[in-house]
Amino acid sequence: MEFAKPLPSYLVTRYHGWKATSYEENQGWYRRLATEGQRPRAMVISCCDSRVHVTSIFGADQGEFFIHRNIANLVPPYAPDGDHHGTSAAVEYAVTALKVAHLIVLGHSQCGGVQGCIDMCKGQAPELEQKTSFVGRWMEILKPKFEGVADIEDPVDQARQFERQAVVASMENLMTFPFIESAVKAGELSLHGLWTDIGEGGLECYEPKAGAFLPV
Ligand SMILES: [Zn+2]
Repeated sequence: MEFAKPLPSYLVTRYHGWKATSYEENQGWYRRLATEGQRPRAMVISCCDSRVHVTSIFGADQGEFFIHRNIANLVPPYAPDGDHHGTSAAVEYAVTALKVAHLIVLGHSQCGGVQGCIDMCKGQAPELEQKTSFVGRWMEILKPKFEGVADIEDPVDQARQFERQAVVASMENLMTFPFIESAVKAGELSLHGLWTDIGEGGLECYEPKAGAFLPV
């Protein structure tokens, strides 16, 4: 691969800093993780957004979370059609092989993917309508939920509600996977929906009885 370049120097410097401190001080722990394998208690599905930092929010160490990130923390419906399904593969491995006890979907404020879906639903994003737009096609997972927020006039409030609906849509789609449905019904797996406010550091959890996200 002739186009690959050496690592930028700022990353080389940071890596050596980590190796000499965090790694060096916890070498035994790292070696144990390497030999014993991973046994994460939870899987987290979050957005690719660089401001969403699930390991910081929960102070998590290596080996604690099985993390999958994609645009707008979406899970597509179960579709065993022989195609490439990265998110479904991650979910399958976490539930059937690692047997995680918790499946957490983490949404967030100011989500660019969710905003793109709003623009698309309002007919304001012809570039996302293109068949060649991977983001546009991916955000179609969320489109059916727009009906529920279409009447919200304030654009900021509408986006925040739609971001929460992205979490709900993902949880609903997770339940269409037979191995998830059976694990949930057997009491071996629980689903959790979270939404974080980046600017305020807030965290809300979906409460099924209220049908709403409540502060943690
Ligand atoms: Zn996002």
